[in-house]
Amino acid sequence: MHRHIIKHCRACGTSVELRVPDDGDTRERAVCPACGTIHYVNPLLVVGTVPYLGDQVLLCKRAIEPRYGKWTLPAGFMELGETMAQGAARETAEEAGAEVEMGAFFSAMSIPRVGQVHVFYLARLLRERFDPGHESLEARLFTEHDLPWDELAFTTVRETLKCFFADRRLGQFGVHDVDIT
Ligand code: ZN
Repeated sequence: MHRHIIKHCRACGTSVELRVPDDGDTRERAVCPACGTIHYVNPLLVVGTVPYLGDQVLLCKRAIEPRYGKWTLPAGFMELGETMAQGAARETAEEAGAEVEMGAFFSAMSIPRVGQVHVFYLARLLRERFDPGHESLEARLFTEHDLPWDELAFTTVRETLKCFFADRRLGQFGVHDVDIT
């Protein structure tokens, strides 16, 4: 993921060097040879919901890269100043234009390969009317059986949906911690 590559110091603009800082650190960091700033890069949090209505879930067809045209749950990068649940609700409003009642924390999916954690909350749809934003081509409801399993945008979405329908069959929603390796 090129998102993690830092070329220039954020403080002074000098080209950075990749080395282990002398302060007892054990990992290579982008260190500025001019002002000494160490640029730490840590995993990013993606927050989203599983909006559901009875036995159906709401998916959005992506209008943006990556995975243009593939289906996803509403989710996006958490912003500063918000809680996970607030971020998940915001993304649901932005991407699906859906009115929901936020429910329980449902899944956390670690993806060390790309340095991300994706978390999803259950969200009960309050009405069957959606207004997809500019990041979505379409938003619609699917049952487990008509869901486009082969056209999903992300592994974390597929795993979360599998957990959702399995829990629904059991009649009880749990909390799922899954490592995508
Ligand atoms: Zn610098």
